[in-house]
Amino acid sequence: MSIDELDIQQKARDFIKQVDISNIRDDLSPYLTAAKVKLHFEKLNEGESGYTFTKSDGTHSVTVNSLETPERQRFTICHEIAHIVLGLPSSHDGIPAWGFAKRDVNEIMCDMFAAELLMPYKLWSDIVPNEEPSLELIQKMAGYFKASFPAAASRYASLCEIPCAFVTMNRGNVLYASRSNALRQARAWISPRSVIPVGSVASRLRCLGKNSTETGSVAQDVWFDNWENGYDMWELSRHYADTDTTISLLWFGLEDLPDVPETDRFGVGVRNYDGLAELTGELPWPGRQKRR
Ligand SMILES: [Zn+2]
Repeated sequence: MSIDELDIQQKARDFIKQVDISNIRDDLSPYLTAAKVKLHFEKLNEGESGYTFTKSDGTHSVTVNSLETPERQRFTICHEIAHIVLGLPSSHDGIPAWGFAKRDVNEIMCDMFAAELLMPYKLWSDIVPNEEPSLELIQKMAGYFKASFPAAASRYASLCEIPCAFVTMNRGNVLYASRSNALRQARAWISPRSVIPVGSVASRLRCLGKNSTETGSVAQDVWFDNWENGYDMWELSRHYADTDTTISLLWFGLEDLPDVPETDRFGVGVRNYDGLAELTGELPWPGRQKRR
């Protein structure tokens, strides 16, 4: 089952439109009001972040695990709102799973929706530095929005103008990869449900078996299917040993940028980089970053 990421994005933005988000970094209650949610805090079991109960009058009761970090609680609140607004059943409600993959996809979609709520597009665009990603940049953005590192990295990949992807991996397998507009247009594809590719930074960090973060240069065809070989790209990867989760941010260097489209799918103008040649309508692809 594939995920229409742009559809999720649009639904989240439609939801956000009706809400005053000026103070959303400190207070999520405008979202709660819009989704008809009453919030409760409880000490839940370890690993259980929260759940939703819908009442007969159409209002919802969301319970959040008060033992988790404030950052995690904020994400849980937005994730539960996603289940409500998208009308997606949750795989953490005690109903036995009949197909892990399908349920898993619902959770990924709710995570994407939650990221839109936590780090609204407009606020994000106002403050994100116009530079290549780095550990410091992602940490700074995560801190500003009181979001986790993976949530901020994912947000960076989906909103940036450079060809960039964010890959989520669990137990050695690729769960999902989200791509920036530029990468999508280049038809760069990473197969979900594949194993973490050998030669990637992610693969190396996972083999070490401990919490670690590293940035390195990797061959483009390590990550992208049916890709021309001989070119390199950057990979910033982080491994979480306790949950065996690995994330990677992949991008092409600024010197290897293809032309940036004038408008994105929503008709929103995107900035051009200084010094780029006039748009020709053709993407000079793949990037001409020589193997280091
Ligand atoms: Zn869920």
